Amino acid sequence: MSQRKLTRPCVETLTPYTPGRPIEEVQREFNLTDVVKLASNENPIGPSPKAVEAIRRAAEEVRLYPDNDCYHLKRALSEKLGFPPAQILLGHGSDELIHNVGLAFVNPGDEVMMCSGPFSQYEFTAKLLDAKPVFVPMVGFRYDVGAMIARLSPRTKVIFIGSPNNPTGTIVTRGELAELLKSLPDSAVLIMDEAYHEYVDDPEYPDSLALIREGYPIIMLRTFSKIYGLAGLRIGYGVARPEFAAALERVREPFNVSSVAQAAALAGLSDGEQMARTRKLNAESKEYFYREFDRLNLRYTRSHANFVWLDLGRDCRPVFTELLRRGVIVRTGDIFGAPAHIRVTTGTREQDQRFIAALGQVLGGAA
Ligand code: PMP
Repeated sequence: MSQRKLTRPCVETLTPYTPGRPIEEVQREFNLTDVVKLASNENPIGPSPKAVEAIRRAAEEVRLYPDNDCYHLKRALSEKLGFPPAQILLGHGSDELIHNVGLAFVNPGDEVMMCSGPFSQYEFTAKLLDAKPVFVPMVGFRYDVGAMIARLSPRTKVIFIGSPNNPTGTIVTRGELAELLKSLPDSAVLIMDEAYHEYVDDPEYPDSLALIREGYPIIMLRTFSKIYGLAGLRIGYGVARPEFAAALERVREPFNVSSVAQAAALAGLSDGEQMARTRKLNAESKEYFYREFDRLNLRYTRSHANFVWLDLGRDCRPVFTELLRRGVIVRTGDIFGAPAHIRVTTGTREQDQRFIAALGQVLGGAA
C-alpha cells in the first residue's frame, strides 16, 4: 500500500518546519570559523547566570522525571502575573502551547484565522487538525482588524494574533483589539501570542491579562526562549481563564516540561537585571539598524520586538547566500510569503556591525 494511503490526508499538506540555519552547519558548508546567527530571535547575551547555575544543579537530578505540575514555577508565575496557579499554562516552548490549543479547541472543518505569511506554527496547527486556515492579508505589515472582523464566521474557532508579530515586529493596539473583541462570535477563542512582549515599549500595547480578568475568551502565550535566553531548553508559558486552562491541561503530554527547563526558568524569572540589559541592548541595536538601513536606502518596518523586517527590494535568496558566505545567518522572507524581505535579529554591537558590513558589501556588489 502506498504511503499516500497510510497517512492522514492532511499530512500531505504539511511542510516540515524550516529553522534558522545552525551555526555549525554554516561553518562546515562555507569553511568558516566565526559565524554570527541573527536568524532565530534569540538573546545575544544569553540567559541569566542564575539560570545557568540552576541548570548545573538540575543536571544532577536528571535521572528523575520532572515535576509534572511545575509546582514552583507555576507559583512564581502566579505571583508575578496575579493569576492562580490553575490558570497558568506551561509547555515545551510556546510552540507546544499553540499545538495544545489546536488539540483542545479545533474540530475538523473549523476555521482558524491568522494573518497572511503567519508564524508557521499557527498554520501547522490548523492544517494538522484538518481545520481551514483563514489568512487575512496585513496592511503595511500590520494586522488589518477591520478585514479580520469581515472574515469572522460562526465557524471561526481560533484566531491567532502575534503581537509583536513574527516576522513583521508590529503590534495590535488596544483600540484595535477592543474592536475585534466586540465582534468576536461566541464560538471563537483568541490567542494572543506575546512571545516578544518584554521588548515592547508602547503605551498602546494591550494588557491581555487585564482582558482575561475581565472575562474575554483570550489565551495569552509567552516564552522563556527570547528575553530569558533559554531557547535551547524549550519552555513557554501562558494564562487562560479556568475552563480553558483545564481543557489545555487535559490535552497536554505528561512531563511536558523538563526538570532542567523548570529550574532555569524559575531562576531566570528572578533576574530583572539580565532582562533590563537585554532590553537596552535590543533598543540600541534597532536604532543602529534603522540608521544603517536609512544610509543603505533600504525600507524596513519599525519593530516592537528583537528583530527587524527588512525590504531588500530584490530576491532575498541570493543575498541570503552571500551573507552566509560572509558568516552571517539571517532569515529569508520567502518562508513568510515575502521573497524580497529578510528578518534580522538584533545582536551584540559587534554582531550587528558584522551584519551591516556584510549586507553593504553584498548589496553594493550585487547591484
Ligand atoms: N510565537 C512566536 C511569535 C514566535 O516567534 C516563536 C518563536 N519563534 C514562538 C511563538 C515559539 O517560541 P517557543 O516555542 O520557543 O517558546
